[in-house]
Amino acid sequence: MNEGTLMSRFDAKVLRSKPQVLHQLAELYCDIFSMDPNFGEYRQCPVCKGYFNHQQVEVEGVRFCENNHPKTEIVPAWEVEKVKVEILDQSSEQGFFGVLAFLNQKVVGFAWARVILFPEVRKHWGDKIIDKVQPYAKTLNLVYFDELAVDLKKRNKGLGKEMVVFVCRWAKQEHPDDMTLLRTHKDSPAKHIYESIGYIIFADDTEYGGGRVMMKADRCRDLNVTV
Ligand SMILES: [Zn+2]
Repeated sequence: MNEGTLMSRFDAKVLRSKPQVLHQLAELYCDIFSMDPNFGEYRQCPVCKGYFNHQQVEVEGVRFCENNHPKTEIVPAWEVEKVKVEILDQSSEQGFFGVLAFLNQKVVGFAWARVILFPEVRKHWGDKIIDKVQPYAKTLNLVYFDELAVDLKKRNKGLGKEMVVFVCRWAKQEHPDDMTLLRTHKDSPAKHIYESIGYIIFADDTEYGGGRVMMKADRCRDLNVTV
């Protein structure tokens, strides 16, 4: 483990009892999506929901959506107060497992996964993806690895891998026979972490734009969490 880092499990109950931690988590969440070049979701058109990156807004001075909405002012894509509500919502669900990485008592990373039933997965991601993975599933449950993020200034220190291992240990122990899925960007450093744990790419994911891929492991027990 890195000097001064602490991996700590969290859920909605923990976050409600520590409002400062919830606030830091939501701030980091907004920062990652706004500033990470793989997302580039700095501003958003309220009409078409199209995203604009930091470069476009702060360097090129883009203020309005030109995508058939030339008079629509673009707004911050992620807002801390809204994200707080979403995170509390997700982390209060049954089958949620989350971890926070602290460095000098500040939240510098987060990761979480949750157990979903296949019928619910079908509702979210449609028949196309599910028909590709369900033949490999041994159970009706799926462990979906939702989120992995490390502060842009604290990367390349192994924090991401520590969190992935933390989450995947739980998945392997508690849900050994369930399949596990996630989505990531093909150029993301996270992709290499997931590969080293045993996830493999099985499909492109076009829902949120180019370059994203879906990864799976047929059973959580196949995940390599001894590192
Ligand atoms: Zn627009």
